[in-house]
Order: sequence, then C-alpha cells, then structure tokens
Amino acid sequence: MLEMKSPRMGALVRHKWRGRRAGLTAPLARLEREHVALLLAICELESPQPGEDRRPPALDHFLLPMLREDLSRVQHALARAAHGAYGSCEMCHKLLPIRELEARPSTTLCSACTRRMVKSLK
Ligand SMILES: [Zn+2]
Repeated sequence: MLEMKSPRMGALVRHKWRGRRAGLTAPLARLEREHVALLLAICELESPQPGEDRRPPALDHFLLPMLREDLSRVQHALARAAHGAYGSCEMCHKLLPIRELEARPSTTLCSACTRRMVKSLK
C-alpha cells in the first residue's frame, strides 16, 4: 500500500489513479468489441449456412485456430479486467503503458516480461 505523506500527495495519487482508470476505458471498450467480433467470426466459420459456397478447407484449417487463439487471449485479458488487474503486467505487476494497451488491448505482459518469455520458449 502506498504511504500517504500529506493530504496533497494523497490528492495527487488519487488524481493520477483517476487519470489511469480513464485511460483504460478505450482499450477495455475495444477489448470487449474484439471479443464479440471473434465470437461471431468463429460461430460463422463453424456453422456454414446451407447453400453457402464452400470456403476452401485450408481457410478454416488455418483461420479457426488463429481466431480461437485470439479469443482465448482476449478472454484472458477480460478475466483479468473482472478482477481489477487489467492494464498491469501479470508477471511483474508493473502498469502497462496506455499507448501499448490502445495498440493491443489484450496485452497482459510488459515488454521486458514478453522478451523474457520469448527467450525462455526458444
Ligand atoms: Zn512485466
């Protein structure tokens, strides 16, 4: 817990925190839209309508696993949001830069932890 040195500092911390929360609104809204779009796309691919031209099987073969992977990433980020952890790195708990969340709303790792993770997988 942060130690409040003075009421003024407390107000400053609260102000910064409100700013942070406001900054998360747009990435979270995009994350929710991505979630719906992915669910609809997967549903559509999994249940072709009768009479519909058959897509090349390779499309389903490559596209569906990619969409399911994206969906699982998005759902993981949404689950973290439900626990109030959205926007912080799940390994080192540092706050993720808002611009990074705006670019990739399902990000749950900071750049340093991502590099460490990639290195460990090689
Ligand atoms: Zn980290």
